[in-house]
Amino acid sequence: MTKYVYRFGGGVNDGEVAGIGGDKNLLGGKGANLDGMAAIGLPVPPGFTITTEMCTRYYADGETYPESLNAEVAAGIAHIEGVTGKRFGNAADPLLVSVRSGARVSMPGMMDTVLNLGLNDETVEGLAATSGDARFAWDSYRRFIQMYSDVVLGLDHAAFEEALEVAKEDAGFTLDTEMSANDWQALVAEYKALVQKQWGKPFPQDVHEQLWGAIGAVFGSWQAERAKVYRRLNGIPGDWGTAVNVQAMVFGNMGETSATGVAFTRDPATGENAYYGEYLINAQGEDVVAGIRTPQYLTKAARERAGAKPLSMEEAMPETYAELARVFQILETHYRDMQDIEFTVQQGKLWMLQTRSGKRTAKAALKIAVDMATEGLISEEEAVARVDPAALDQLLHPTLDPKAPRDVLTKGLPASPGAASGQIVFDAENAERLNELGEAVILVRIETSPEDIHGMHAAKGILTARGGMTSHAAVVARGMGRPCVSGAGGIAIDMEAQLLKVGGRALKAGDIITIDGGTGEVMAGEVPTVQPELAGDFGTLMIWADKVRRLKVRANAETPLDCKTAREFGAEGVGLCRTEHMFFDAARITAVRQMILAETEKGRREALAKLLPEQRADFTAIFIEMAGLPVTIRLLDPPLHEFLPHGDGEFAEVAEAAGVSIELLKRRAAELHEFNPMLGHRGCRLGVTYPEIYEMQARAIFEAAIAVAEQSGEAPIPEVMIPLVATKRELELMKAVVDAAAQAVFADKGRTIDYLVGTMIELPRAALMAGEIAEVGAFFSFGTNDLTQTTIGISRDDAGRFLTSYVDKGIFARDPFVSLDVEGVGQLIQLAAERGRATRPDVKLGICGEHGGDPASIDFCEKTGLDYVSASPYRVPIARLAAAQAALAARSK
Ligand code: ADP
Ligand code: MG
Ligand code: MG
Repeated sequence: MTKYVYRFGGGVNDGEVAGIGGDKNLLGGKGANLDGMAAIGLPVPPGFTITTEMCTRYYADGETYPESLNAEVAAGIAHIEGVTGKRFGNAADPLLVSVRSGARVSMPGMMDTVLNLGLNDETVEGLAATSGDARFAWDSYRRFIQMYSDVVLGLDHAAFEEALEVAKEDAGFTLDTEMSANDWQALVAEYKALVQKQWGKPFPQDVHEQLWGAIGAVFGSWQAERAKVYRRLNGIPGDWGTAVNVQAMVFGNMGETSATGVAFTRDPATGENAYYGEYLINAQGEDVVAGIRTPQYLTKAARERAGAKPLSMEEAMPETYAELARVFQILETHYRDMQDIEFTVQQGKLWMLQTRSGKRTAKAALKIAVDMATEGLISEEEAVARVDPAALDQLLHPTLDPKAPRDVLTKGLPASPGAASGQIVFDAENAERLNELGEAVILVRIETSPEDIHGMHAAKGILTARGGMTSHAAVVARGMGRPCVSGAGGIAIDMEAQLLKVGGRALKAGDIITIDGGTGEVMAGEVPTVQPELAGDFGTLMIWADKVRRLKVRANAETPLDCKTAREFGAEGVGLCRTEHMFFDAARITAVRQMILAETEKGRREALAKLLPEQRADFTAIFIEMAGLPVTIRLLDPPLHEFLPHGDGEFAEVAEAAGVSIELLKRRAAELHEFNPMLGHRGCRLGVTYPEIYEMQARAIFEAAIAVAEQSGEAPIPEVMIPLVATKRELELMKAVVDAAAQAVFADKGRTIDYLVGTMIELPRAALMAGEIAEVGAFFSFGTNDLTQTTIGISRDDAGRFLTSYVDKGIFARDPFVSLDVEGVGQLIQLAAERGRATRPDVKLGICGEHGGDPASIDFCEKTGLDYVSASPYRVPIARLAAAQAALAARSK
């Protein structure tokens, strides 16, 4: 017969005896830790836990209990009676209990706790007599009726609150504490009348009926709408179930020597190793959190820092406080983590009601992990495993000063973290112009496109009205480390009037706004920020992470500044240098357009000759920053039409540079139009049709590499990457172009350098044919953005419109452009890695694209045995930590 009830407290610990004392899966988080605390001798009121298994069975059996549960619950009550010497339902000396829900993970949405269960018209008199405090007894009874009616009977609690308000008003009181025993007793009568009226039955007087009602309500709350919503949002399976905890009441509301409080063993905001908490004298349960009275500080130091008058617990109850501090130490040592604790003091005696690992800010998580490892409480590896890599994101960017006031205009998506303030500008040109004048600007667009890149670079932050988390603005901003709020649907942009309209207000170009890319908030005016701290704890944790990491971490970077940032963040090379961004530069775009629109090879070569010195300068600057490290340069990739001129003015500029007519150019531009550019004339298809483009780029790479080698004595290691290859032959042709350029430059300069030619694997065919492709390519870089797009057949530029529903409906667990679709796309990567290695055992394997900075995807890369991941510069530390965690996880298998 399955055991469903586990007792704890008073020297009995069924969970410990059964060896499942700490098992949150069976006892729920609260139950497991109540059991755990009782087992190590801490003062825990006795009680019992009905397991989560019972909850699951309850639903499987059509919301009924097995026969055996009655006896088990009765034995549980008998246990509590034995320890406390009180009897459940006994009129002379009644036992009161709390009934508390407790799933595996803390879950708002579950039933609220019912306190003081076991009170009725008779037992309330007994409680008054044994406590010698009638006021306390009637206060407890009215609390019980109110809570029970609300959470178990589901009655309208506003009516109860109103009755209390009216009672106080009639008596001329403002505080609950002014109410006398008689006042409470009168209110109880009113409450009972309210129950009769709303529920149609009298308030249950039978304590067993009360108990089973509460147990049923806890199990019932597992399938409540709000609990389901919470589970869906947090990926909690529906079959976990909740446990029920029934526990002897202890009373924090028995006068001035009683209190209730919550505490953290370290500061959950800063991580500082100092107790942190609040308490209330003569109060019960959730009074502290409910804000009925202003709680007092736990420690003297915190009270003094806040300049508050009411005594801290340390001062008001020094002995109990010392006992509590001792318990904090024991709990931290036992659970080896910062604890979030609930306690009650009944007439000077301390009781522990809950402990769990405390939630904390990213900053605190980092500090606590490093401190605990330094203190010897946990190992360095555990410290590495404990910090959520994604949370580091918050720490690597300036953040809003939490103390500063905010005038929030609206909220969009938190697309790229960090906070920034600046003048509103509505176009990239103005952003660049004002930036050159030393002004801070926020670029505000309906949405952004590749042409806005220079403006995004010039801006301190980006705000868009449309577009999701993987929109152009979001992806590019993350890559650049610019804060970005995207999809702020609450704003309207009037380009003509140069106005930003939001919630009935209108802001002009030049007005200052602040955006917080970590929360999505958009605020009027400047909100001060605080700078990130990269040395200290952060640096220490990174060193520990690097000790266990196997995967190398590179950066996606295409400017010297990006490279510098990436190196400071610990990048071990460039995994993806996209050359097209260089083409958008204002000084070059005309030559680029001339090249694209040329009708002959000769025309193209003329334009390319103008670009060669510019490209060489780009690569030289990058190689200098990345001296001694590998740099993967991807030759031109995007559809040519992205570079086309727009207005007449731009056509005229190109016409003049090329010495041809505007009409001719316009005709040529029309010819370049494509129906489906993503699958069109792009990637190596450009190099196949116009080899001179790749030839120029390769030449620029080798000339730059040799120049840097000669200057610095440290040769860079260029890895020339051919994009969008589907066949071995394409790569062969392109490799021949690159090799010929290399030979020509080497002959010219009289020296050689090492280099590699490889390809991106971003088409399913390339993955399938990887064995053959590896005969030519020395490395593969998985271009998972395009590989996801081409494998699933979802356009990433259009996915925003429907992908959210796909995630909501569970078709994809997460946006496959953010976190790699390991199941599907992952198979192609595994297969390509295997086939590539079978042909060429030392083929270098890496991943570039958004996934290179996503911890779950990095874990997959570790499992697949890739050599490196490449992430945007600001995500390099995240990738280093995630790679270390992946290595630890692999090792523990
Ligand atoms: P939650 O999950 O919302 O924190 P709890 O079950 O922890 O709910 O209960 C909330 C509060 O009720 C506790 O912090 C404590 O103050 C009070 N409480 C619960 N059980 C008891 C008890 N046996 N004696 C006294 N107070 C209790
Ligand atoms: Mg609660
Ligand atoms: Mg609690």
